[in-house]
Amino acid sequence: MPSTNKVLKKIFNVNKIKICNCELYKDHKGQDHLKISVDLRKSEKNRCPFCHKKCMSYDSPDYKRVWRHLDLGGIVSEIEMEAHRIECKKHGILCEAVPFAYEGSKFTKDFDLTVAFFARNVSKSFVSEYMRISWSTIGRCISRARKDLDPDLRRRLDNLVNIGIDETSYKSGHKYITVIVNHDTGEVVWLHKDHGKQVLKTFFESLSDEQKASIKAISGDGARWIDECIDEYVPSVTRCTDAYHTVGWAQEALDEVRAEAWHKANDEVKKDKKTYSRGRPAKDDKERARTKEKKEYAKAIKNSRYALGKNPENLTAYQETKLQMIAESEPRLFRAYRLKEDLRLILHLKDVSSADQLLKKWLWKASHSKIKPFVELSRKIRRHKGHILNTIEYGLSNARIEAVNNKIKLIIRRAYGFRNLDNMFDMIYLCCSNIEIPLPNRAIKSEINTAS
Ligand SMILES: [Zn+2]
Repeated sequence: MPSTNKVLKKIFNVNKIKICNCELYKDHKGQDHLKISVDLRKSEKNRCPFCHKKCMSYDSPDYKRVWRHLDLGGIVSEIEMEAHRIECKKHGILCEAVPFAYEGSKFTKDFDLTVAFFARNVSKSFVSEYMRISWSTIGRCISRARKDLDPDLRRRLDNLVNIGIDETSYKSGHKYITVIVNHDTGEVVWLHKDHGKQVLKTFFESLSDEQKASIKAISGDGARWIDECIDEYVPSVTRCTDAYHTVGWAQEALDEVRAEAWHKANDEVKKDKKTYSRGRPAKDDKERARTKEKKEYAKAIKNSRYALGKNPENLTAYQETKLQMIAESEPRLFRAYRLKEDLRLILHLKDVSSADQLLKKWLWKASHSKIKPFVELSRKIRRHKGHILNTIEYGLSNARIEAVNNKIKLIIRRAYGFRNLDNMFDMIYLCCSNIEIPLPNRAIKSEINTAS
């Protein structure tokens, strides 16, 4: 049988440590705790938590440091150690480093990493309940895990070739963050509070000359300040417009047309109502039945936003019938829908010359459509035509940037918004990258794959 010491070391995942004592006790709420008291080996003693250098011993205050470990069969487990302070020449007077926990943490590394692993996949309230910690603690655990697994965020800015600039709202009241995505890996490489020209300038200023030189193409929405920043900092880079934003413009134009059709249908209902006589209507009042029909028709148009916005291959049977109804009774709205769909398909093309020809035809169709929002859209697309064709030429996939955008929105929604922006950034960096979070006493997946 293995010795108790060996079992405890395995369970607590601690090496280079002497276990001096182990006790089981109940706290004032009746909760069971398993606590081991440990001492560091001589070689591990007096180390600075930041630079890990051996330092001079400073003093030993009269208290014990306690770290919480992962629960064992519902029992709260803890590691306890005598406090010992050191004096680092560079970092000053500090508590000595311990190999099983991050600096400033009251939890073991395994605990912090497990919280980060869960938080990446499930909601914050679930993590809070399961791990028995508060919401703010989750944020701090994630930040420590991120700093350990990915200590140098600047390395993400090395060897960038195709990048995308995007912005996402993270709170109600127009609070935005700027997100820079690597198109080739789908990794978020840079995040910053707010959006606009000044933020983009900060990004370019944080790049070294070498990092700037490796960038070949930059995509984003049609904002003029992106063009201005590119001209100022990286003039040789090709400017592209994300298909995702271009389809978004068409979507907005289509929405305007849908709103017009709905208002028109609604006006018909109101006109009918004015002609009614007072009093309870007769059972077979045909006039009222017709009004009811009109009312339902107006409602169907009002609620057709999703059917019109979705890609046709993803429509549900109900949405398909709605689209069929629009095709039969609202020719103007249906024409607008066709224009949006045509544009979307052009943006999916791989060949620039055929895309160029089709886009020319589309521009003619849209500008002669007599649908005001689409006439305006055609002007906008004509202005950005060069950038749109660049996107097709460079093969900048729309799916990737959209996937990152959706992922960020999901992270924010799952956490019901973030109070601390740094915690949110750490969470996004952890989720939108290929960093693997190691779990206690388990080999890392990528290492297993390379070994086999
Ligand atoms: Zn130090």
